[in-house]
Amino acid sequence: MSTAYPDTQLLIDGQWQDAASGKKIDVRNPATGEVIGHVAHADIPDLDRALAAADKGFQVWRKMSAHDRGAIMRKAASLLKERADEIAALLTQEQGKPLAEAKVEIVAGAGIIEWFADEALRVYGRIVPSRRPEQQQLVIKDPVGPVAAFTPWNFPVNQIVRKIGAALASGCSFLVKAPEETPASPAALLKCFVDAGIPAGVVGLVYGNPAQISEYLIAHPVIRKVTFTGSTAVGKQLAALAGQHMKRSTMELGGHAPVIVAEDADVQLAVKAAGAAKFRNAGQVCISPTRFLVHNSVREEFTSAMVAHAEALNVGNGLEKGVQMGPLANPRRVTALTQLIQNAEQSGARLLAGGKAFGDAGNFFAPTVLADVPLTADIFNQEPFGPVAAIRGFDRIEDAIQEANRLSYGLAAYAFTRSLKTAHQLAQDVEAGMLWVNQPALPSAELPFGGIKDSGYGSEGGPEALEAYLISKAVAITCV
Ligand code: NAD
Repeated sequence: MSTAYPDTQLLIDGQWQDAASGKKIDVRNPATGEVIGHVAHADIPDLDRALAAADKGFQVWRKMSAHDRGAIMRKAASLLKERADEIAALLTQEQGKPLAEAKVEIVAGAGIIEWFADEALRVYGRIVPSRRPEQQQLVIKDPVGPVAAFTPWNFPVNQIVRKIGAALASGCSFLVKAPEETPASPAALLKCFVDAGIPAGVVGLVYGNPAQISEYLIAHPVIRKVTFTGSTAVGKQLAALAGQHMKRSTMELGGHAPVIVAEDADVQLAVKAAGAAKFRNAGQVCISPTRFLVHNSVREEFTSAMVAHAEALNVGNGLEKGVQMGPLANPRRVTALTQLIQNAEQSGARLLAGGKAFGDAGNFFAPTVLADVPLTADIFNQEPFGPVAAIRGFDRIEDAIQEANRLSYGLAAYAFTRSLKTAHQLAQDVEAGMLWVNQPALPSAELPFGGIKDSGYGSEGGPEALEAYLISKAVAITCV
């Protein structure tokens, strides 16, 4: 399905509008390299209007009951599902992933919004026993205030969904700087909330110069909470800025997920589950498996099956039927991956599949498998964010755990084993925010989603996600 690709406007105070300056940024299709549309570029006067609207929207939204807020959120989720085919076609044109993957992202996003709408009903305070009979002590949960969100291009819809779901459920207004590379599907998401009847100013959408917008919004007194998904380097800058201005923050940053394939693993299951996860969205996923640590007794079997899996993938324009992997989102990723693979080979790794860009147009990169990758190779140390499975062997499970924990990242981890004892050991000792054993990643709305160490802090799933947008106010009332 192909939907005409629109120009994208800003959403300020419930109105879709161009930037006051009229400035725009080109949007390219990563499968063809062609300019397919434009997105409005906000400057300070636009941001000032968006901030004033977020402030006003917060006063309205915080006073609405959780039931009424949830009803609007559920209506928005239902519109999102109704429009999933149309929005998926936009998402694929701007981001590159296959249509089926884009649709899964959107339908799953609607489910996450619904979950948060329900969870809004379970934001309980506490009554705390008092020391005096005439006094009552309460803990009340209040929304923290207007939120500034910064989201990346790899899941243009779902990266916003996790943030907007928790923020709106908690009673916060929400201003997002969405990715300039992939602007139309985020706008289509926000339109679902507008069409569901959300009061003006409760949700806002801007695009522009990311550094200028984040510096201005984070420092601004209207904003009380910052949430960012993106690279660790940028996350550290934004977290520092948030700290300087005493703003609460959630940081969902990079990862370098180990996959431990134990001696007793179901190797075919490991290849199927971790292979699918590896090449989903062309590996441009923060929880993508990256370091495959495979017991030496099954390493050859695993490696040859992974090569077969990678070589069988149908790579092409995500709009075409049967395509399983699209292009990389931008030429920066092609350059970065080419360098990582060259460095791996120079360090002694064996290139068994893929390894290079291909095609006359677009950012296509072949699904790649590297074996015997030394620990010193850049790809075993820097987040590849691309379709590369890097494999090395191990003999003792303790060594695999040590390697899993060696890096400063701690987002996702995977393991395959038939031993309950090994699964238990991994659950206790692997330093990661999320661990999936004998299965692909299934980051459901009801479970915490987030990392530790350089992968960030805070959570974007489960009741913890709402906590990040709530303050606990202590109230003591003496009856006189
Ligand atoms: P990048 O670090 O330049 O940008 C990542 C995202 O952060 C983009 O959406 C960008 O618009 C935004 N950004 C950059 N500087 C910003 C600033 N000062 N203020 C606010 N937002 C800012 O990298 P990139 O080339 O776009 O992506 C490559 C790297 O980004 C990857 O290697 C990966 O580590 C990371 N990334 C992570 C995720 C994730 O889901 N955690 C998603 C996309 C990118």
